[in-house]
Formats: sequence, structure tokens, C-alpha cells
Amino acid sequence: MAKKFPANRIKTHRVYDVWEIACALGCHRQTVIRWIKAGSLRAETTKKPWLIEGKDLKAFLGARHTTITAKLVLHHCFCLGCKAPREPDGKIADFTQQTPETGRLTGLCPECGALMNKVVKRVDLEAIRAKIEVTIQKASPRLVSRADPRSNVTISHKGQTHGKTQQG
Ligand SMILES: [Zn+2]
Repeated sequence: MAKKFPANRIKTHRVYDVWEIACALGCHRQTVIRWIKAGSLRAETTKKPWLIEGKDLKAFLGARHTTITAKLVLHHCFCLGCKAPREPDGKIADFTQQTPETGRLTGLCPECGALMNKVVKRVDLEAIRAKIEVTIQKASPRLVSRADPRSNVTISHKGQTHGKTQQG
């Protein structure tokens, strides 16, 4: 779950190492390392320990908070790869019911091909379906199999095409 970190504890003119950031924010060191490796958090990584300027950390936390709270267009998903909201590739997505009121919308990022998903309300589903093609999946994807129970042959559907349109 995304969590809001106390950016006000970070001093703009200080230089931090990973450990200090983890302590200041109350998060795991690995989390900080992941931000740096993902390129989201700027750091001086040419020598150890890695050093992060307070202002860069503040900017990162600020941007992160905006991202979390920014309201996405209903049928858009947030791509973690691009760090931007995207309309699912080919305007197709899957909806998997998770609770009676909510479910997970899954689609592919048109820019980088990463799997994107977000939790949507069941009541919003019709509005989403007005924009993109949504396939309703059963609760457990494992149960959604077209394999004929009378045969032992496993049918692979990996190459499923969705009538993807050529971009030009
Ligand atoms: Zn992407």
C-alpha cells in the first residue's frame, strides 16, 4: 500500500545517506534503495555510501504524494514504469471482481508494455466500459480456463490477440 511519508522531517540543505532517510521516514532501507534504483529519487551513487540531497528527497516525496492523491481519469491506470497515467493499450482491460463493491482493472501500458492495474468501484464499471473494452474476469484467474475437463490437453491461450489496431 502506498503510504505518505513525512517530507517535513527532511531538511532541504542536508545531505542524507540511505540509512538516514529510512530512519527519518520510518521506512525500510530497501524501499529507499528501490526508489534510487528505479531512478525516481536522485542520488549520488558513484561512491558509497550513496548520498541524497535533502532537496531532491523533498521533491521526490512531494511528487510521490501528488501522484498518490491525483485523481486519475476513470479508465486510465497509473503506469509504474512510466510514472504517468495511461489509457490501457488498445483500449482493452480486464476487470476482476475482488469484493462486492470493488474490483481490479488490469491493462497494459501502451508506452512501455508494463502491466498496470488499479482498484475501481463496481459502480464505475459502466462508465469505464463506455470508454474502453473491459472483459469481466471471474474472481480467480486460475478458474478462468477454457480447457475441456474431458481432455488432459492444456490449451494455451498465450497468443491471444485482441484485434489490436496498428498505431501510425
Ligand atoms: Zn508505461
